[in-house]
Amino acid sequence: MTTTVESPARSPRLQEFLAQPQKILIDGQWTDAGSGETFTTYDPATGEALATVPRGAAEDIDRAVSAARRAFDTTDWARWRPARRENLLWKISELILSRADDFAELESLDNGKPLGIAAAFDVRSSADCFRYYAGWPSKIQGSVNNPSMLLAPEDAEFHSFTRREPVGVCGQIIPWNFPLLMAAWKIAPALATGNTVVLKPAEQTPLTALLLGQILVEAGVPDGVVNIVTGHGEAGAALSEHSDVDKVAFTGSTEVGKRIVAASAGNLKKVSLELGGKSPNIVFADADIDSAVGGVIQGFTLNSGQACEAGTRVYVHESIYDKFNAALAEQVKALAVGPGNDPESVITPLVSQEQLDRVVGYLEAGKQAGAVALVGGNRDTGYFVEPTVFTGTSEDMSIVQEEIFGPVAVSIPFSGDDEVIAAANRSEYGLAAGLWTQDLSRAHRVASRLNAGSVWVNTYHALDSALPFGGFHQSGWGRELGPESIELYTQVKSVTIAI
Ligand code: NAD
Repeated sequence: MTTTVESPARSPRLQEFLAQPQKILIDGQWTDAGSGETFTTYDPATGEALATVPRGAAEDIDRAVSAARRAFDTTDWARWRPARRENLLWKISELILSRADDFAELESLDNGKPLGIAAAFDVRSSADCFRYYAGWPSKIQGSVNNPSMLLAPEDAEFHSFTRREPVGVCGQIIPWNFPLLMAAWKIAPALATGNTVVLKPAEQTPLTALLLGQILVEAGVPDGVVNIVTGHGEAGAALSEHSDVDKVAFTGSTEVGKRIVAASAGNLKKVSLELGGKSPNIVFADADIDSAVGGVIQGFTLNSGQACEAGTRVYVHESIYDKFNAALAEQVKALAVGPGNDPESVITPLVSQEQLDRVVGYLEAGKQAGAVALVGGNRDTGYFVEPTVFTGTSEDMSIVQEEIFGPVAVSIPFSGDDEVIAAANRSEYGLAAGLWTQDLSRAHRVASRLNAGSVWVNTYHALDSALPFGGFHQSGWGRELGPESIELYTQVKSVTIAI
């Protein structure tokens, strides 16, 4: 059952932030939506209104894109020398850490996630992302090439080299599950490479992006280089179809990802997508069972299962299936369900009524199809649902095939390596995969055969600024983080000089 906990005293600075009228950031100015319209963002644990935020739409996106275009084309931003850019990114990282408590509390309030996770993971990882990309500007390199130039006279000489240059104006559309972190994953590499940005945060969780906007201004990001427009899907659609946007980067549902691809066709803007998943987490008979149980639980319950890389298809070797499930059920049953500000809470509320309806719909569909809830299976009060593991599933069930985005997993027995690899790969997605074994050869063999952008062995959710992240199949296009994001936000030019 859920518990209620009195809200901790908010810091004066956070109170001040929440009390002020929220504005969107365009060309260094905090402004209202052109229409004057607003929407309210809520604490999902209590339903309390947190703030009223401008409802940006196409005209605001247009203003923001014009500002980003002006900053890219007519200022020296794209040509800043590396050390200056590195200092700026480093400063942003430090300023995020200096407001870490406020960011964590705001994220927990707006999204519902546990305050401790917001502090230890979301905020630290966001600062780390800016720190990591602060190191990149001085390491971006081209190559010196040796062309044959067949039409040139024999004694002609050439010097050819390549340069990595920014893509231009980048539209960035982010989801509500890791709001600050997704903003950091998008903005940091874009700034490291000299692009300009229009960011559209998710309507459910706009607040930490706006606080980040204040930090960016304070750090000295030039006017127009980062613009932040809060709003609904219509604002995202306007951004993805805008003819003056050179690239769009999106994280969210596969359905909207496909719409963004279609909308981008008008000016053939570059597109990178980080979409859904239905990731397998495989427990072999030789696994350390205790750590596998813990890892499987963390795999599908982190952020109350609202994580694209969640390990929700759990495959367990038949020889340990009953024993594993018994331990799993016991530990899942003991997970505390409660608000994010209760340090005991592991399962916190889902982000919204829509998400609750969606997850409860899957719980009902699973039961109706004949699956058995080994543990959980019901909604709790408010936006809370019980952490749930289904057994007795068949592959055609929606709870086995589709992304649920709640704390819900299926546990499926298997008998052999080839069989489980084939089952794990039978998915339209391919974002992540986990495997639990103490056999090093098996770990390498299976890791190389799983169709997933990230494979984790004896661990899960092992995300890091240095490691590329993204998906096979319909889990997306391109990879974020690591050196791959530098490639995502640059394009290569070859230069040839007759000497
Ligand atoms: P969504 O894909 O609709 O929203 C993500 C972002 O896209 C938001 O900023 C939203 O305003 C924007 N958007 C919506 N319609 C758009 C359009 N036509 N063009 C451009 N941008 C648009 O996600 P959701 O509805 O909030 O969640 C639905 C499901 O998506 C979830 O249940 C989950 O399965 C999945 N999801 C995945 C991720 C992920 O990290 N991969 C994150 C959130 C949700």
